[in-house]
Order: sequence, then structure tokens, then C-alpha cells
Amino acid sequence: MSRKIAVIRGDGIGPEIVDATLEVLDHLEVPLEYVFIDAGLARWKREGVPISDEDLEIIRKCDAVLKGPIATPVERKGYRSVNVLLRRFLDLYANIRFFKSNPLSPMGNLDIVFFRENTEGLYSGVEFRPLPEVAISLRVITEHASRRILLKAFRYAVENNRRKVTVVHKANILRETCGLFLETAEEVARNFPQIEVEYSIVDATAYKLIKNPENFDVIVSTNMFGDILTDEAAALVGSIGLVPACNLGDEHAMFEAIHGAAFDIAGKGIANPLGLMMSATHMLKYLGFQEKANILENAIWRVLSIGKVLTPDLGGSSTTRELVKEIIKFLD
Ligand code: NAD
Repeated sequence: MSRKIAVIRGDGIGPEIVDATLEVLDHLEVPLEYVFIDAGLARWKREGVPISDEDLEIIRKCDAVLKGPIATPVERKGYRSVNVLLRRFLDLYANIRFFKSNPLSPMGNLDIVFFRENTEGLYSGVEFRPLPEVAISLRVITEHASRRILLKAFRYAVENNRRKVTVVHKANILRETCGLFLETAEEVARNFPQIEVEYSIVDATAYKLIKNPENFDVIVSTNMFGDILTDEAAALVGSIGLVPACNLGDEHAMFEAIHGAAFDIAGKGIANPLGLMMSATHMLKYLGFQEKANILENAIWRVLSIGKVLTPDLGGSSTTRELVKEIIKFLD
């Protein structure tokens, strides 16, 4: 049965890596029907809105979303993040990011799965300036959102034979917000006696991720801590361009690489599309095309093992197009 995918090509290198990924999916002959949605900074500049309400409704009716990065510039007043909007609109509360060593990684034995709460925390958007020289941001943490991300992480651990879940917090200072997250974690953890639980303060976690990353298994945290720690973890697998992610809710799913629009290399034809391709393998599994997902994953692994056709972020000098051609060679 054909599945309907909303495709957002996004900003910066987005169109280059999305087109590369669609080309590979076409070669795999997965029965997917694409609905292209124009969203992001370019649309905002043209039309004054980064995405329309009609488009959001179209996305809601699709089976999944495949998304390139969308820019959220610091200096544009009145521009709200499409990423945050989509996560809230589709209630994609779990941002799951995968850090697995590949043949090029500086560390050989990593297999960390990071669950980042995706809808609240310091990214709730509740900010104001009571005085011109005072700015306030509210860090909203609810028991409901904490419980569901924690449950998602612990259930994943059980279903995937994982050993340990590390709960990352800063409850020694943020006594109310992280305190509630921690209390909820302790309660949820009691229902999973087979899983070892570790509680780790965020700054110490940042250090331990570099010092002994192989000690981590599944990690779960609040929104901004997760955002920062996962970019740090990306360096451990070799390039931010290699890391896939899923944004999952109970009814919808969106797949994207963890990196941003990379304007510094946009249009040069050298962007690494593998993070998005790996995200597409997670989309294929989610949609029930496990075999196709395995073929694509194996092809990516083969190309990385051979190590001859690599984009500059991986130490090579190949273009995105050359890398796509190389992946396609291993799909048959
Ligand atoms: P970035 O991830 O775009 O870039 C950081 C560095 O990594 C740059 O040097 C870039 O060239 C490199 N890089 C990133 N992806 C790469 C790839 N696929 N291949 C090769 N090199 C790659 O981070 P940034 O510069 O801070 O952000 C740029 C814009 O992207 C910002 O507007 C930000 O808001 C947005 N962003 C979007 C998302 C998303 O859509 N989910 C995520 C992060 C950042």
C-alpha cells in the first residue's frame, strides 16, 4: 500500500540533501507518494508566513513527514520557528536521536539513543521584557510531558534490550522544574526494574559524554539540555551530518537529520546527505518497510566502510551527487 509523505525541503542545504534522499528512495522503489510543502525562511521572506494553515492541515493527513532543516534566524523579529511549530502542532513530543559508531567514527563502540523532550522546557516560547533592560524566559515543565518522554525512553530500552537509562537533570539548582522531572523519572523507573537507572547532572553529563561515552546507553532529558548534549554527542560519531532523528508523537511522526541549514556550505554541492538518509531508514521502519530500511542502512554502511567517496565533513573531497551515486550502487 502506498504511503503519503509530506516533504519539506527546507532552507540552506535542505533542498540538496532532501533531493539526494528522495533519489535514493526512488531507487529503492518504496511505494511512497510525496506531497511537497513549502515551509521556512525563504517562504517567510516571500509571503510573510513561513508555513500556511492549509499546509499544516495537509501535513496532518500524511502518514509521515520527511523534513530538511529550516532556519530560525536570531535577528528576525516576528519570525517563529517552524520546527517548534511543527513539533507542537503534531504533538511530536519525543525527539529521538541516534549516535552509533560507524566505520569512520573516532570512537568505535558507541550506540547511544537520546530521548529529548520536544514540546516544552525553555523552548516553550514564554518570554517577555518587563523592563527594557530585563528579559525573562519561563522554563515550563509539566508532569504530563515529563512522564510521556520518560515512558517512551524506558519502553524503548525494554523493547530494544537496552541495559541502562540515564536521566539528565539539574535538580540541585532548578529545584522546581528539574525537581518535577526527576520525581517523575523516579516514579516511572519503578515500573521498569529490569532497567538500570542512572541520574546525572547535566554539566557532569557533558563531561562524561566526552570522557567515557561508551558508558551511556539510553539517555533522556528535557528540551534544551537534550538539544545541547546531542550536538556534543554528534562530534563523537564523526560529523553532525551523520546523525539521524525521529520526532514521534502518539499519532504523527517526522524524520529529519539533527543538523541545521548549514548556510556556510549551501549551494556548494558538498553537503553530507547521510544524516537525512539515515533518518529516512527510520521512516521506512516506522511505515513498515523494514527490508527496504535494511538495504539502505547497509548501503550507507558499505560506503562509509570503503571510505573512498566521502563529503568534506567526513574528510573526503566528494560531492553530494557523487555520494548519492555511490549509495545507489549498493542498493541492488
Ligand atoms: P548547522 O547544523 O546548520 O551547522 C553547524 C556546522 O555543521 C556548520 O559548519 C555546517 O557547515 C556543518 N554541517 C551541518 N550539517 C552538515 C551536513 N549535512 N554536511 C556537512 N556539514 C554540515 O548549525 P547552525 O549554523 O547553528 O544553524 C544554521 C541554521 O539552521 C539556523 O538558522 C538554525 O536555526 C537552523 N537549525 C535548524 C534545525 C532543524 O531544522 N531541525 C536544527 C538546527 C539548526
